[in-house]
Amino acid sequence: MKPVNFDYARPADVGAALALLADDTLAVKIMAGGQSLGPMLNMRLVQPDLLVDIAGIEELKQVTDRPDEIVFGACITHADIEDRRVPDVTRGALPSVANGIAYRAVRNRGTVGGSLTHADPSADWISILSAVGARVTLRGPAGNRTIAVEDYMLGALEADLRPGEMLVSVTVPKLGRSARWGYYKSCRKTGEFAHAIGAFLSDPERGVSRVVIGATESRPIVVTDAQHLIGDGRAERLDRVFDSHAAAEAIAAAGMADPIDRQTHVVALRRAIERAYSA
Ligand SMILES: Cc1cc2nc3c(=O)[nH]c(=O)nc-3n(C[C@H](O)[C@H](O)[C@H](O)COP(=O)(O)OP(=O)(O)OC[C@H]3O[C@@H](n4cnc5c(N)ncnc54)[C@H](O)[C@@H]3O)c2cc1C
Repeated sequence: MKPVNFDYARPADVGAALALLADDTLAVKIMAGGQSLGPMLNMRLVQPDLLVDIAGIEELKQVTDRPDEIVFGACITHADIEDRRVPDVTRGALPSVANGIAYRAVRNRGTVGGSLTHADPSADWISILSAVGARVTLRGPAGNRTIAVEDYMLGALEADLRPGEMLVSVTVPKLGRSARWGYYKSCRKTGEFAHAIGAFLSDPERGVSRVVIGATESRPIVVTDAQHLIGDGRAERLDRVFDSHAAAEAIAAAGMADPIDRQTHVVALRRAIERAYSA
């Protein structure tokens, strides 16, 4: 199948892109890397009048290094992070996860903003960026608003993107020197979408302890104060203090009813924690 006929625009800056999005007489769709949108166009699941290609907008590829955080544009690709063209402030977490996304051709074009907005529950960025406590900034007719990554995803294939808005940047806090993280995605072949994801961050210097259960049927389960699951981060080995029963209870409380699914996700989280000690 082929897409419906549509017009194509490649604005030079965010202001011009927003002006195109403001036309509510047309079905306007943003395209970044096209890695998820392309198939959806071909299957006619999306039928735009106008495609706004934002991949050439410089502002969306910029990186700003601040004392406590790094801010990068929505069109930073998975490969930009894998290759550390975006300086790593996460003690290797983001480059390592980027490296596990699909294969290099997809990583060269696919963008972090596109992945978060596509809101596939099995995708990697939503889980790891929730684990490290990242935020997204949206820009639209009412100006900028910044929200936690986990709040941006409302459900499967549904992001909190209001009419006329676009995602412009992602802000990632710099992790402390004693921070530990882990990420495990369970999938049949390397680079595939996951059927269970476990991720954690323990950053005692900043008093942060977060656990993420991803690749659920909807948005990830994010435990923002996870000391009851992984301790306060001061234990020599977090895998020895990990409470798998409490993790299973947290997952059940979040609504995952199937016991096998629950167990698969607990195991993914346990492996994420064990991996923090296997490097
Ligand atoms: C074979 C294959 C394997 C893959 N495997 C994985 C995997 O293992 N893990 C994983 O996480 N992902 C995987 N992906 C998905 C890949 O990471 C995509 O790049 C990503 O999901 C979408 O990014 P994109 O830049 O291509 O977005 P696009 O396809 O261009 O857009 C996706 C959606 O986001 C919207 N959008 C894009 N940018 C913005 C913005 N700045 N503001 C507002 N809306 C925006 C578009 O309108 C569209 O609705 C895979 C893809 C393929 C083709």
